Amino acid sequence: MNKENATEEEQMADGKARDAWAAPQENPKYLWMSGEQVDWDKATVHASRLGWSAISMVFEGIRGYWNAEHEKLYIFHLDAHLKRLMQSMRVMRMRSPWTTQELSQHILELVKANEFRGDIYIQPTAYFGEGTPGYLAVQERPGEIIIHNRAASSTLGSGNAVTCGVSSWNRISDNVMPPRVKAIANYQNSRYVADESSRHGYDFGIILNQQGKVTEISYACIFIVRDSVAITPPASAGTLESITSEVVIELLEKELGVPVQQRDIDRTELYIADEAFICGTGAEVQAISSIDGYQFGDGNVGPLVSKLEQLFHDVVRGKTSGHAEWRTEVY
Ligand SMILES: *Cc1c(COP(=O)(O)O)cnc(C)c1O
Repeated sequence: MNKENATEEEQMADGKARDAWAAPQENPKYLWMSGEQVDWDKATVHASRLGWSAISMVFEGIRGYWNAEHEKLYIFHLDAHLKRLMQSMRVMRMRSPWTTQELSQHILELVKANEFRGDIYIQPTAYFGEGTPGYLAVQERPGEIIIHNRAASSTLGSGNAVTCGVSSWNRISDNVMPPRVKAIANYQNSRYVADESSRHGYDFGIILNQQGKVTEISYACIFIVRDSVAITPPASAGTLESITSEVVIELLEKELGVPVQQRDIDRTELYIADEAFICGTGAEVQAISSIDGYQFGDGNVGPLVSKLEQLFHDVVRGKTSGHAEWRTEVY
């Protein structure tokens, strides 16, 4: 998409399309709050708890895909997401009152109760609740968990390619605010980046670390393709340990025969790539049409990304019998 000549209105409409998956359509009937399924409207937290409680808040973003043909709803990589939630809580020194098996069961019951017949997004969130000022060190205390879920549309197969620009903001680092932890507070970094990139007319900003190496997009990972080899930065560069990246690496190597390198990427290496794409639970797999105005191919979805996106779609939606272990059937 060429942003340079777009009017402000067009840019806003485009931004809306991009963020459509995040836009609440209609509230579901229930969410899950500290052990109980609660009516959406009754799930309230006192105003005095706002603010500091967010410091230690960690979360997961999980997608569920509807297979209309078989009338089945599949949650993608539920166990891996719950495992990572526990890891994030551990770094926060937060104990979970529920095991991953229990949370998994509660998620399935919640989604069933909401009777979704379409793609969904599920967000378990853990934080220190009542009586724990967030600015004080809290040692090994139980956290509270809220799970909400909503309808969320998918961009897979849309043929859309996004524009990116390298951000002037740097990525947080392991000894500052560990990017490995999926923490709400880390999103302050993402927010500065997203604000800058949209002001400059890009869909997404690419964040470099303090050493000037590529890390990720504000909430998704980045891959480039050079001479039929896919390259993505390692977690040690300052990325979240992405579940989608792991899936993509396996699909590329095992199914598409594309070797993958996990290594540092320089800024200018982005510019000379043949293709590039972003991936993540929210972002799914989306081609990048240009970075800092350097266009890849004709600016449309490239041949390798096109194949990968199709394969990813078939796997998450259960259009193929392969990789059934990554899907949890709700109904
Ligand atoms: C969640 C997230 C991602 C994507 O991780 P997935 O496991 O693929 O969903 C990437 N970056 C950040 C900052 C994230 O919070």
